[in-house]
Amino acid sequence: MKIAILPGDGIGPEIVAQAVKVLRALGEPFEMEQAPVGGAGYAAAGHPLPEATLQLAREADAVLFGAVGDYRYDHLERALRPEQAILGLRRELQLFANLRPAILYPELAGASTLKPEVVSGLDILIVRELTGDIYFGKPRGVRECPDGPFKGEREGFDTMRYAESEIRRIAHVAFQAARKRHGRVTSVDKANVLETFQFWREIVIDVHGDYRDVQLEHMYVDNAAMQLVRAPKKFDVIVTGNMFGDILSDCAAMLTGSIGMLPSASLDAGGKGLYEPSHGSAPDIAGQGIANPLATILSAAMMLRYSLGREQQAARIEDAVRSVLAQGLRTPDIYEPGTTRVGTGQMGDAVVAALA
Ligand code: NAD
Repeated sequence: MKIAILPGDGIGPEIVAQAVKVLRALGEPFEMEQAPVGGAGYAAAGHPLPEATLQLAREADAVLFGAVGDYRYDHLERALRPEQAILGLRRELQLFANLRPAILYPELAGASTLKPEVVSGLDILIVRELTGDIYFGKPRGVRECPDGPFKGEREGFDTMRYAESEIRRIAHVAFQAARKRHGRVTSVDKANVLETFQFWREIVIDVHGDYRDVQLEHMYVDNAAMQLVRAPKKFDVIVTGNMFGDILSDCAAMLTGSIGMLPSASLDAGGKGLYEPSHGSAPDIAGQGIANPLATILSAAMMLRYSLGREQQAARIEDAVRSVLAQGLRTPDIYEPGTTRVGTGQMGDAVVAALA
């Protein structure tokens, strides 16, 4: 099994080093090869996604990604900015399914802005379609309004669309993920107003025919946003389109209150994936040894589960993370009085020790 290691910029190299340490400690025969990406890619090869890095990502069974973004490259034209690397990888590897768990460990319940009893023990998974919907639909643009009460004025317009196969493949991902969890899927749509999402609902119901053991419910997106804040623990897996998923996954992430704890996965149709923390390169704390590596370590656990077929090893890492939190170890972003403040490397070492 080959893993492409792409640390990127800012805190990327510091946090990815901890995840690599944890992966090595598992004693699995993984081959890990590293390559520059983002600002580091530009510095090394004049492009945020150098050809050799893309080639490595293509060859590998999975990609472990840190974060990209470096203010030193903000003056560059858009195509050469570090952030283009992640968009390029999603496009080139055809990563259409974004999996974002929002887990709130009871020890960190105080970090949420919601009452601890509402969020403590929260464990939901948002499955967001990543390559379709209004973000990519055509035609789009700004034009002279052709008809109606605003005829002749300038108007902006976009196209919301989903092909049947796009809905089918994301629905399969959600149902399969639910089988590995608590067996419940909530499909979030706006079927009462939008043709695209009426069609979405029809296809999700059809795919559900292959997963009778999984419970399916449908929810309008406005209600889903409300329920996420009112009673988030009632969800297991939420599956939705690109735009609704974009908004709901950030909302769910913030329920946990600690961005340094949230992993993510982006998968292709064959189960290959790119795994990365949900946060960015945090240039404000880069190089200080204080970044929280747990989101990246938990991303490595997702990689073991979803791309490398190592469920037990994934669970071992997640248990180790729970254990270090129970020991009271905290990086500054999740520190509370009465706990023990540790740095990035110490946190990584503690997870390795807890694996044993
Ligand atoms: P950010 O997520 O990097 O940082 C937001 C805040 O959270 C900062 O205060 C930061 O210190 C803190 N933070 C983030 N991760 C942390 C961690 N692991 N431990 C402790 N604290 C952490 O978002 P931003 O500041 O808006 O963006 C910084 C750069 O990252 C920008 O260049 C942006 O484009 C890029 N970015 C990249 C990705 C990606 O690589 N997928 C995602 C988002 C942002």
